[in-house]
Amino acid sequence: MRCYCCSSKSFDECCGPFIKGDKHPSSAEQLMRSRFSAYATAHYQYILETYTKEKQQGLSVEDLAQSAQGATWFALKVHPTLAASSVDSLVGNLVSSTEDSSIDSTVHADAKVEAVTNAEPISKTNLKSISKPNNAIVEFTAYYFENKSMYQLHETSNFSVEDGKWRYHDGVLHDDCGKIKYGRNLPCVCGSNKKFKQCCATKSR
Ligand SMILES: [Zn+2]
Ligand SMILES: [Zn+2]
Repeated sequence: MRCYCCSSKSFDECCGPFIKGDKHPSSAEQLMRSRFSAYATAHYQYILETYTKEKQQGLSVEDLAQSAQGATWFALKVHPTLAASSVDSLVGNLVSSTEDSSIDSTVHADAKVEAVTNAEPISKTNLKSISKPNNAIVEFTAYYFENKSMYQLHETSNFSVEDGKWRYHDGVLHDDCGKIKYGRNLPCVCGSNKKFKQCCATKSR
C-alpha cells in the first residue's frame, strides 16, 4: 500500500518505521509527513511526542484525538519551498558527513560548509553549530473529509531540532484553508493519476 503521506513509497518504507519508533526522521519534511500519516492512522501518541517540549505542555493524547475526531485525512501535498529543501539537504549532507569521525570526512564537511556559507576558515566548534541548523520550515496542504465535505489545511510549519530529533513547533495557516469543492473528474489531489471520483473521493464518509 502506498504511504498515507502520498510519497511514492510504501507505508513500511516511509512513515511506518517513524510512527513505530524504529527510526527517527532525518529531516523536517520527513517528520511532517510522518505526523500526517499518524493523523491518518490515529496514532495520537506520536503526534504528541513529535511536538517541541514547549508545545507538548498543555497538550494530551485525548485533546489531540478529540480535535481530530470526525476528520478523515486522506491526502498530503508538500510544496517545494526553497528554504525548506535547501536547509534539509544541507542538514542531510552534513550530518551524514560528520557522523563519520575520520579526518577525511571532516575535511570534506568543512569544504561543504565553506562552499555554502562562503565563510571565513571554519573551526571544528564553528562547524558543529553551522552543520546542524536547528530550524526548518515546510509548507504543505493536507486534505480531509468531514461530514462528507472536503477541506484543505494549507500551512507553513516551523520545525526545530531538540535532543537531535526533529520536532514540530507551530505553523501559520494560509487564507485558502477550509471547505473546498473539487471536481470529481479532475486528477486526484493525492497524485495517483486516477480521477478523483475513482480514487480518494471514495474515502469520503
Ligand atoms: Zn509516508
Ligand atoms: Zn487519491
